[in-house]
Amino acid sequence: MDTKYIFVTGGVVSSLGKGIISASIGKLLQARGYKVTIQKFDPYINIDPGTLNPYEHGECYVTCDGMETDLDLGHYERFTDIQTTRNNSFTTGRIYQAVIEKERRGDYLGKTIQVVPHITDEIKRSIQASAEHEHFDFVISEIGGTIGDIESAPFMEAIRQLRWEMGHNAVNIHLTYVPYLHAAGEFKTKPTQHSVKELQRMGIQPDILILRTEHHLDESILHKVASFCNVEPTCVVQSEDMPSIYEVPVNMQQQGLDIAILRKLGAPLQLESGGLVSWYHFLHLQQEAKEEVSIGLIGKYNLQDAYKSIRESLSLAAIYHGRKANIRFVNSETLTAANVGRQLEGMAGIVICPGFGSRGIEGKIIAAEYSRTHDIPTFGICLGMQMMVIEFARNVLGYKDANTTEIDTNTRHNVIDMMEDQKSISQKGGTMRLGAYDCELIAGSRAREAYEDRPIITERHRHRYEFNNKYKEEYEASGMKCSGVNPATHLVEIVEIPVLKWYIGTQFHPEYTSTVLHPHPLFMSFISACVGKQ
Ligand code: GLN
Repeated sequence: MDTKYIFVTGGVVSSLGKGIISASIGKLLQARGYKVTIQKFDPYINIDPGTLNPYEHGECYVTCDGMETDLDLGHYERFTDIQTTRNNSFTTGRIYQAVIEKERRGDYLGKTIQVVPHITDEIKRSIQASAEHEHFDFVISEIGGTIGDIESAPFMEAIRQLRWEMGHNAVNIHLTYVPYLHAAGEFKTKPTQHSVKELQRMGIQPDILILRTEHHLDESILHKVASFCNVEPTCVVQSEDMPSIYEVPVNMQQQGLDIAILRKLGAPLQLESGGLVSWYHFLHLQQEAKEEVSIGLIGKYNLQDAYKSIRESLSLAAIYHGRKANIRFVNSETLTAANVGRQLEGMAGIVICPGFGSRGIEGKIIAAEYSRTHDIPTFGICLGMQMMVIEFARNVLGYKDANTTEIDTNTRHNVIDMMEDQKSISQKGGTMRLGAYDCELIAGSRAREAYEDRPIITERHRHRYEFNNKYKEEYEASGMKCSGVNPATHLVEIVEIPVLKWYIGTQFHPEYTSTVLHPHPLFMSFISACVGKQ
């Protein structure tokens, strides 16, 4: 079968959950035995979100090949278990950069470079880039932003052209919002009609409409939208608020969204033997998981999306332990030695979050000390691991001024120091140690046990600083073991204190690879300790 293309756009307002819908479509097509990939186009000018404050766009997600991307890629991977790469994430900045590089190289000699056709051609090339190296039955392209935005116009023009060129091998799916007006006691479809008109004005006729709504919509409303927007009635579905985002694929399937897509694309309605069986099994576990496990999230961004993948990884691992994760954010900027006991009261375990810069750092160290001395299961991730290492140096090894050179360049005890190959780099964007690296697990360690005794694992990174190997022997002699080490560079990737219930820090980010059907072994092991099973 030729590769088929699915373009997902959004209208009326942002934050409708285009990422979840795109991931759900991917899941449903996979459940029918198709090979899919999902990509995101973000209209902003940054080359990637690597240097963005999480308050702007939430967490920065990292692919195995080291691309810093939008958090929607996390949804794609968690829903579908696909491995995304740099071909799954583009921004306006990256598109322009590619065109300008070609211009400098002389690829367009003699020509005036313009948004149409040069930028739009580059977008079209990027949409088709994944399928160039590997066969995919479906490429789902999510266009960030909202219809009508100035900056998304070139993307709209590109998908307009592609749909025209590809004919039955492409469909447009438009996600809009249907508000309920309490005062009038009515749902309002006018914003949807306007959004579709705006699309049509750009030459795009949606094939399928997905109406986001907070309450159930009657058939009559779906019919009304269908007839006003020139869309077949069977191609209008609703996406009601669900108790969990993981119920969205099932909800979409029940309304025949996958059938509508396959029919529009002329693809066989094949059924895969496994289908959604394991997905339903997971949903069943989720519904049954009522008893809570309280986990403290020690970080500085009080925003759901800032630690998205960590939150999802904790929730998923908890569900597989028959528990519902009650994730309690603790602002490390307000943590002091005097209030830490109160702030962490009732927590079965804590996660010390990743981050950059000095804000909230001391609070993370105080949390690490409290959980170490009170034997509370503790999971430090990246900066969190570095804080565990610093705390141990200050309070166990007796180096009161121990620090990371990220915070104090002159510290005499630089237990966390900049990586050698980072010292000559001055550019900030995309220059960290990024992407997947091997890690050798030391036999007999808690970490190795968590990974079911696998000797070598591969995990994704995003950092500039590292454990200073000069101190390794001292740490190990005093009880903090380096249980995971990069075999090629000897960089320490995991530290743990074996005499405690569960006290592990990882320089890498396990949260990026935890998926619905394959929760990450370290999160599973951590939750297991939190619920007292270890
Ligand atoms: N700021 C730290 C470093 O660069 C940790 C980064 C992180 O937590 N992702 O090493």
